[in-house]
Amino acid sequence: MTSSATTTWQHGCRAAVVSAATAVVLTSGVAFGPDASAAPVDPYEFAAAVDREAISDHLETFQQIADENEGNRADGSPGGVASADYIVQVLTEAGYAVEVQEFTTESGSESENIIASTPTGRDDNVAVFGAHYDSVPEGAGMNDNASGTAALLQVATELIATEPLNNQVRFTFWGAEETGLEGSAAYVDSLTDAELESLIVYYNYDMIGSPNYLIGVEDGKADSYNGAPLTEGSAAAMDLQTDYFDSIEQPWQPSEMCCTDYNPFHDAGIPIGGLYTGGREAPKTDEEYEKFGGVAGEFPDPNYHTAGDDLANVSLEAIDINTGVIAFAAASLGASSESINGIAPTEPTTSPSGSPSSSGSVPPSTSPSTPTSPPSSPPTTSSPPTSSSTSPEPSATPTPVRSTAPTTPSPEPVPDRKPFSGSMAETGAPALAVIGAGALAALTAGTLLLRRRP
Ligand SMILES: [Zn+2]
Repeated sequence: MTSSATTTWQHGCRAAVVSAATAVVLTSGVAFGPDASAAPVDPYEFAAAVDREAISDHLETFQQIADENEGNRADGSPGGVASADYIVQVLTEAGYAVEVQEFTTESGSESENIIASTPTGRDDNVAVFGAHYDSVPEGAGMNDNASGTAALLQVATELIATEPLNNQVRFTFWGAEETGLEGSAAYVDSLTDAELESLIVYYNYDMIGSPNYLIGVEDGKADSYNGAPLTEGSAAAMDLQTDYFDSIEQPWQPSEMCCTDYNPFHDAGIPIGGLYTGGREAPKTDEEYEKFGGVAGEFPDPNYHTAGDDLANVSLEAIDINTGVIAFAAASLGASSESINGIAPTEPTTSPSGSPSSSGSVPPSTSPSTPTSPPSSPPTTSSPPTSSSTSPEPSATPTPVRSTAPTTPSPEPVPDRKPFSGSMAETGAPALAVIGAGALAALTAGTLLLRRRP
């Protein structure tokens, strides 16, 4: 992986701040609006309720964008720009004041990161969740990485309706990952030391719908990564995800970290984590087949970085499973980051626009056996709201910002979680034959040199 250290960064984020929409988005029959008396969301309920059908719709949109733009959504291309536009539109309609951070890539083309932070929550204690939205030029990039993008978009859309939060949750959508992690590197480079210190964790979702999937949790307990020890908190960040999987009896396995957008955060000393369902590193083993079904002896994603990475070759089942843990982590850390950085919940802070907040808080519910209702204990500390923003400030040299005026959110309540439908690939049923160990070894021998996610 080539370094992105030489990326040219045009200073600062441009925040297109619009009046915070008083959106009331309904999740699973329970409304969490701006009413300060609303009960905090339960992370388990939130995880189960995120609308998977809406994620499927996002995926279809990204495929359509590729179809209309020479089959890809590569960074800087019309398909890439249209993908970014769609993300901005969805986040704006959900009620976010979306920031578009423009930067110039090493190749000299223009790209942008899209950043949406919850209006409430401490901005000095921020959980960051990210996914890259660009594809390689060879294909539509539906697993890599419309999968992570679509899931994150929907979690963001629904989390804002659960406010007020204790901690800010920031959703980031990176450009120019496929050209060398340029978007995430530009973002990290743009942060001050204080802003970096405000980050609880960075979770990354890159390829979470591999058609022959593994449920891989990025290994926050490894001795080191990319030449440096993992930052303290990475192990707890992994536990937060695996405790959720354990609570729903979802098998998982550690995934060796490699070469995606958490690299710049790791290099900056931020705890990191994420999910990954596998590419072409190695064929699925017999043991993995026993855990996850699919097809032993075949790659988790044989279409990696090819024209075959399309809507027909994405596992909605894998995205469904992973969406739960993304939502769980977001809701949990929005309530408390104590399990990762020791900072106990405080009174929810007010948003810059002054929306009231007075409700209690939800410590992270990480016990695998207790999908619970919110605890009865009130906030235990009373740190004053932080008034000095640590968000990236607008640049002194303003550049155009796209319009992000929120529109009225859909009034339709989202009933119980909907199953995916449609013609997309379904995997996971352990109905296919396990190939012999000899064939497996032969396949493996020929593929170990392939690296994932350049
Ligand atoms: Zn990727």
